[in-house]
Amino acid sequence: MPSEIPFIKPSFPSSADLANDIDEIVQSNWYTNFGPKEKQFVGSLENYLGKELSKQVSVAVLASGTAALIAATSCILGRGDCDRLLLMPSFSFIAVPQAAIWNGYWPWFIDIDSDHWQPCLSSARMALESSRDRVAGILLANTLGVGNPEIGRWEDLAKEWELPLIIDSAAGFGSRYQDGSHLGSRGDCEIFSFHATKPFGIGEGGALVSTNRQLIDQVNQFQNFGFDNSRVSHQLGMNSKLSELSAAIGLRQLSGLDGRLATRRQAYDTYRAALIDAGVTFQQNAENSSQFCASCCTESPETRDRVVQILAAQGVQARQYYNPPLHLHPYFSKGIGFCKMSDLSVTEDICSRIVSLPIHDYMEKRDIHRVAEVVRQGCQSGS
Ligand SMILES: *Cc1c(COP(=O)(O)O)cnc(C)c1O
Repeated sequence: MPSEIPFIKPSFPSSADLANDIDEIVQSNWYTNFGPKEKQFVGSLENYLGKELSKQVSVAVLASGTAALIAATSCILGRGDCDRLLLMPSFSFIAVPQAAIWNGYWPWFIDIDSDHWQPCLSSARMALESSRDRVAGILLANTLGVGNPEIGRWEDLAKEWELPLIIDSAAGFGSRYQDGSHLGSRGDCEIFSFHATKPFGIGEGGALVSTNRQLIDQVNQFQNFGFDNSRVSHQLGMNSKLSELSAAIGLRQLSGLDGRLATRRQAYDTYRAALIDAGVTFQQNAENSSQFCASCCTESPETRDRVVQILAAQGVQARQYYNPPLHLHPYFSKGIGFCKMSDLSVTEDICSRIVSLPIHDYMEKRDIHRVAEVVRQGCQSGS
């Protein structure tokens, strides 16, 4: 059997480069708490994300994407009394409702749109029309790191109902909205994850990005116990800072990012071309993303199960993002707290048909064709 194709294959800076970084950090004798590497990393991220924008974006880096979500919710909404809810998709990663609950808010799971698998505007509107006073804010997602084609309409909805809009763009560092701008500048803020599994991975890390400088200052206090410059606390905080070594890795990863993203996009285009008449559909605007993975929907749940089985038998690691959807995880399905659920039939339908194919930096073309051929076999063998 040919060798196994892993779902994720991170590329990391060389150990020689990292040895240089460690040397510099030890020379400076500064390991965390907004040191020189962290400052440089923040500046580089601001330049990268802001380069084609007319407005300035500001960045705070944190210990993880989850920490960034918790900080965003805490700094924008304040601590809740566990009696109000945040609208969020069930078709997302479990860190999103967890960030809400850690801040004293319960999730209200809304549905997604079958066209683009992003949160559904009319599902949100229905929730608001029935129970506006129960809702404290919106935790939107750029699903699978892909820029939401309706982002402007979400900003309008949030404004109309006077609700904060926090956007989880975790897997989408380097992705673009349909107007060509990088993810990062929309809503009240956007958060990213730099987990090793993401296209921009440093191990563990995350960022919160906003056009609101004051919010970023507040987040930097939040992640350092709520301390201001005189080490006096004016707000709830915690420790969720990024270490100097992680920031150094981030700087190395950022310098080669565009080249790696280009090869990931080529991999995605190759999948799409190879599967054009195989009976699978891809996500709208995914071609402009950093390609966390290549997710596609088969025509039926039976076909998906067959495709998944054949992939495994042929040594190809695939996943099903995000199956099970959040509302079917036992913690939520048992009806925890005041957790609410809209009609989630599109979410359940997409989850029953989705399969996520591997994309690596510098993935071999013949490996992509091998995966696509197996998917094609799975799609055909039942018909
Ligand atoms: C990865 C991910 C997170 C969590 O980020 P961590 O850095 O692992 O804490 C949150 N939301 C989404 C959508 C993700 O994909």
